[in-house]
Amino acid sequence: MRFAIAGAGVAGSYLGKMLQQRGHDVEIFEASKKEHHWPVCAWGASRHMLEKFSDQAGLDFANYIFHVGQRLRMELPNDNEEYLDLKGLVTYDKHRWENDLLKDVKVTYGVKVTRETFPFDKYDCVIDCTGLHRTLLPKSEQDFLIPAYEYLLENVHGIDEFYVIGYKGAKGYFWYFPLDGGRGYMGAGDVQKKYYGVDEFFKEHPEAKVVKKIGRPIRLAPPKRMEPFYDGDSNIIGVGESIGCVFPMLGEGIIPSLICCDIFLDVLGRSNNNNGKFDFKEYRKRVLDRFDYYDDVYRIVRLKMDGKLSTIKHVNLMMSMYRHMKKEEKRFGFEVSLDKMTRLVNAL
Ligand SMILES: Cc1cc2nc3c(=O)[nH]c(=O)nc-3n(C[C@H](O)[C@H](O)[C@H](O)COP(=O)(O)OP(=O)(O)OC[C@H]3O[C@@H](n4cnc5c(N)ncnc54)[C@H](O)[C@@H]3O)c2cc1C
Repeated sequence: MRFAIAGAGVAGSYLGKMLQQRGHDVEIFEASKKEHHWPVCAWGASRHMLEKFSDQAGLDFANYIFHVGQRLRMELPNDNEEYLDLKGLVTYDKHRWENDLLKDVKVTYGVKVTRETFPFDKYDCVIDCTGLHRTLLPKSEQDFLIPAYEYLLENVHGIDEFYVIGYKGAKGYFWYFPLDGGRGYMGAGDVQKKYYGVDEFFKEHPEAKVVKKIGRPIRLAPPKRMEPFYDGDSNIIGVGESIGCVFPMLGEGIIPSLICCDIFLDVLGRSNNNNGKFDFKEYRKRVLDRFDYYDDVYRIVRLKMDGKLSTIKHVNLMMSMYRHMKKEEKRFGFEVSLDKMTRLVNAL
């Protein structure tokens, strides 16, 4: 089949490589110019999952790891502090990982795909991997974005572990994710755009040098609220953050986007049982099932933001989040404990 992919982020790069590996014709169109193309992300994710995806795409993930986390320090409102044991959370060279996936794939940079101008008839299928922008699919009235920005820093001393500050009312959080050799990402996502922690970090670390300042909002609305996922008439399909594949409590979208890619590839692989046609309905169902509990997590976040979360009244939501996260502890890369989760939600 002939595929066009809009967007060369994590979903577009991985999908492009995997489709080509399976013998399809692939062309990727990326809005930013090659010399400016940079994954806006703090580059943190679970190695267990990234090893699997890398393996499938013919890469050795060990070559990309910057920092293997041991213990994450979390500052909470009212001088509370919590530590999480890390079980595979790493930072990695996301820029090189995505570039290596794209090595043999045809990518045209500097092309902003639009619904009005794109030559849809040249392709059997056009995949919307434009993340936040969701360029080729209709807007969702239930969409919810959190503003975020960060600095890529070098020459940082005295801090070499994952460190976050949770904001009151789950309005967002500050992060420092160490990379290699004194480099790290420092930034924050905050619905109130106050970004507490950023100025304080610079005061505490006057030695830190800014390499880049980057940012964009992160989508927190889960797939259930980001329909439609496809336009069957024009053979457009959304994959990744464009259809809400982001864990809403953390704004963490690398692994969810890649999981979504694998669902797409699996449904495509089964199209022989469907007269060679991509089964849109099956794709929709599989995505909704896989990310079903993200909606519970999203509701917890929104209730907390609105000051309406009660750990008694909303015990079912809390238990759903705990049970699912516990089952997927390796996928998250950190310990999931009911005690700590409850303390954390109460402290925020
Ligand atoms: C500041 C910040 C920090 C983050 N940190 C983490 C983290 O540490 N761990 C984690 O798991 N998640 C993190 N996330 C979220 C994660 O980066 C995203 O959820 C994930 O990258 C989504 O992947 P994607 O491929 O769907 O979209 P993206 O990675 O956003 O890629 C979309 C691509 O489409 C391109 N594009 C957009 N519009 C068009 C168009 N019209 N035509 C052509 N191309 C277009 C964009 O330039 C971009 O390259 C972070 C997000 C932000 C903003």
